[in-house]
Amino acid sequence: MQRQPLEPVLEQIERQSLYRRRHTVESFPQRGSHVEVIVEGRRLIDFSSNDYLGLAGHPALAEAMAGCASRCGAGSGASHLISGHGAEHAALEEELAAHLGRERALLFSTGYMANLGVMSALAGRGESVLLDRLSHASLIDGGLLSGARFRRYPHCDAAAARRMLADSAQPATVLATDGVFSMDGDIAPLAQLAQAARSRDAWLVVDDAHGIGVMGPTGGGALEMAGLSAEDVPVLVGTLGKAFGAFGAFVAGSAALAEFLVQKARSYIYSTALPQPVAAAAREALRIAHRDSWRRERALALAMRFREAAAQAGVPLGESVTPIQPVPLGSARAAMLAQQALRGAGFWVVAIRSPTVPEGQERLRVTLTAAHREDQVDALVETLRGVIAGLPGAGG
Ligand SMILES: *Cc1c(COP(=O)(O)O)cnc(C)c1O
Repeated sequence: MQRQPLEPVLEQIERQSLYRRRHTVESFPQRGSHVEVIVEGRRLIDFSSNDYLGLAGHPALAEAMAGCASRCGAGSGASHLISGHGAEHAALEEELAAHLGRERALLFSTGYMANLGVMSALAGRGESVLLDRLSHASLIDGGLLSGARFRRYPHCDAAAARRMLADSAQPATVLATDGVFSMDGDIAPLAQLAQAARSRDAWLVVDDAHGIGVMGPTGGGALEMAGLSAEDVPVLVGTLGKAFGAFGAFVAGSAALAEFLVQKARSYIYSTALPQPVAAAAREALRIAHRDSWRRERALALAMRFREAAAQAGVPLGESVTPIQPVPLGSARAAMLAQQALRGAGFWVVAIRSPTVPEGQERLRVTLTAAHREDQVDALVETLRGVIAGLPGAGG
């Protein structure tokens, strides 16, 4: 883009109903949850966070963080390879690896950086990467950054992935997908993808940012649901800022993979280590998630309650068994109007528009967490029913 006044560009985005705005949120951490928030003076119930287990506002995480900060200070002071790698980082990596049944886990500062690092370390010029069409932006950006030829297969279509792996003049060296998809809440066909990747000697990279901690009998995520091992999925990416209520991310895999990423992943090497107090909070979150299996069960039970009530109320739904429940509305304008109307009624639900989802697939993204109450879920559905009936073109 040539240097030019930016205001007309912004006005154009506004006319398309695609303008993105930030809203400053005040929460009530003293209540141990982030479900009730104040946004610009209004009290709202938050159905938009990724705090699936209700841990982000948990006092034990805040205490772990404060305790660690008083011992080790706020900042790490350097990257992991210089002098920033501390005891809390090392302990968290060991606990994550044990939790997920892998040899090693390697901490990254964010999931975005983990995916950039993994994709660009495992693929390069002259090679090819293959991704699900609806993969998270960070996997896509990592694939582009790698310099490899970049191809996408239709969403969750394992047969297409298998064909594209097989027929290329340049066989794909990396096959990448979300585990639980962030905007749809559906789950990749991991068993078939694992088989396809294995038969072609491609690395299968699964980013299960929304599955780990929530899905599977012990919170092992989409892989655990599918009964897949570390051999099936050699590269597993997870984050600490969603179900675990803290911040940061990790790549779990073999010892050799972790060592390889330490040598090659530039987003790991050239960036300051996560603050140790953040790692301490994440350790506490892992302990609580392990102990309180009810949190997982509750988030999923509330998601099912939402689906049943929404189906009865004629509210459209996606195909999702996870706490991510999309409500498809078909246009950016409808999604924005619905978001505003819900906000007026005391609910914080966010409209998801292009380019986050393809045009025509705009939606509200409702997320359920262990910290919601049944009556809050029921009230949301009742309000949604009215809001959707009142949208222009809703025929009634
Ligand atoms: C949120 C998310 C990320 C990014 O993780 P951050 O730690 O927030 O940077 C990566 N992948 C998926 C699928 C996500 O939903």
